[in-house]
Amino acid sequence: MPVQTRADLASLPTYVPGRSVPGAIKLASNEAPAGPLPSVAKAIAEAAADVNRYPDMGAWALVDRLAREFGVTTDEVAVGCGSVALCQQLVQALCEPGDEVVFAWRSFEAYPIVTHIAGATGVRVPLTPSHEHDLDAMLAAITPRTRLVFVCNPNNPTGTSIRREALERFIDAVPADVLVVLDEAYREYVTDAEVPDGMTLRAGRENVAVLRTFSKAYGLAGLRVGYAVAPAHVTTALRQVYVPFSLNAVAQAAAIASLDAAGELLARCAETCEERTRVRDALLDAGFEVPPTQANFVWLPLGERTAEFAEHMLDSKVVVRPFVGEGARVTIGTPEENDVMIAAARTYLT
Ligand SMILES: *Cc1c(COP(=O)(O)O)cnc(C)c1O
Repeated sequence: MPVQTRADLASLPTYVPGRSVPGAIKLASNEAPAGPLPSVAKAIAEAAADVNRYPDMGAWALVDRLAREFGVTTDEVAVGCGSVALCQQLVQALCEPGDEVVFAWRSFEAYPIVTHIAGATGVRVPLTPSHEHDLDAMLAAITPRTRLVFVCNPNNPTGTSIRREALERFIDAVPADVLVVLDEAYREYVTDAEVPDGMTLRAGRENVAVLRTFSKAYGLAGLRVGYAVAPAHVTTALRQVYVPFSLNAVAQAAAIASLDAAGELLARCAETCEERTRVRDALLDAGFEVPPTQANFVWLPLGERTAEFAEHMLDSKVVVRPFVGEGARVTIGTPEENDVMIAAARTYLT
């Protein structure tokens, strides 16, 4: 008899990464378009010289730095191998088999996967017709078995965001023993002052965790660093389910160097936000439906035409991220890349 793997893995959805096509412009993974700053590249090279040694397992220099950055204690900060690992750790740390995890759908595709792997049950709450979180429906989906609710703000892949009043009302209506995880992977791209910084929502609330990443605005997707700011007993549990040493030494050094260079990196984000406005306007002008976005991508809800659109874009050497039958997510790139993308998209509708 062959080695047996878990039978339930057959029904597990697979994470579909954005494709890399040689010679094509990749606007499929919400990456920052520019490579590392010289100061960050230097920190990476220096850390690389010591890779015969294990990394600091607690990543204390980075944890300490993040704690000071956000004015919290070090025991309220946990780091992980990308914030996707923290999503998985949160479910593992909070859920027993059969417990429930509520999230909007469509949202970040890792949520159902990490939920299933942990043996918990994912409860998907459809977005509204305007592609936004349906917070009332999410509240109604909470049961005594719910341990955790993911709220992706801004939402990947739709770019839509939740404003302060609605989010506060939601959090305050969630039972105190259910953790609200605010996944803010795109926080640095938010320009709407009404979209709250999740860190400010933690004050006076014991059931809120905020997830952030160095992969998007800080341009370190290839190094894998994310962090959580959460109540101390939650970060303790996160450390208990952490794969030892999974946040490597080069990544730790690069993350600290990136915080040192935050000014320059956030200036790059501001350029991306300007491009976002230009891109969205051009696509609206071309006749596409494009929900307002606060992230570094736009969502084109093309429904049944999504796969065909992605093929059309690929013919013009532009890789987008299709969610077949639903829509295509297109990352904001450099102005030149965006020009090529807009030109290609225009020819799809004409
Ligand atoms: C990209 C992304 C992440 C995680 O990115 P990591 O590279 O794992 O840090 C988490 N949540 C959302 C919504 C994302 O889009």
